[in-house]
Amino acid sequence: MNLNRIVSRLRNAGLKLTPQRELIISTLLASGGPLTAREVLKSVRKTQPRISFDTVYRNLAVLSEIGVVNRINLKVRFNSRFEIADDHRHHLVCLGCGEVRPVNLCPFQEVAVGLEKDKPFRIVGHAFEIYGYCAGCDAFRDPGPDPDRNGYTAERKRQSEAEVLKKWGGT
Ligand SMILES: [Zn+2]
Ligand SMILES: [Zn+2]
Repeated sequence: MNLNRIVSRLRNAGLKLTPQRELIISTLLASGGPLTAREVLKSVRKTQPRISFDTVYRNLAVLSEIGVVNRINLKVRFNSRFEIADDHRHHLVCLGCGEVRPVNLCPFQEVAVGLEKDKPFRIVGHAFEIYGYCAGCDAFRDPGPDPDRNGYTAERKRQSEAEVLKKWGGT
């Protein structure tokens, strides 16, 4: 989605392209991958040092409500990542380190057609992520006698969450 399309989406939703929104959008457009709200904040602060986390977070929420931005739920302590909504896609999300990789296939499209007919229900969109462990994190998983349901020992899970929070910041 380019800036022109984004601006017209905003307009259709009765919203303006404020300088803050423009900065947030251009940060996401320039980014090579989905960013956490804290990462967006850090980048936006280079231009607007006084902008608050709340403002950035509220704008990201508004942009995701109107479909300009995808919100990817990391499932780790309310943490999310945001990206400009382009082609429809899903993501592999690592529960260990929070890494997000796009998957360029959608297994749901055929199912959706069936659902619309059966229910009937007009589907306008869907979102889901695929959770698991990247190779690096998988090596840490402890298959020992008492792992929690994710396969992590309680101790490793605490460590892992602390690492994620340190790396990506909590939202
Ligand atoms: Zn990982
Ligand atoms: Zn899909």
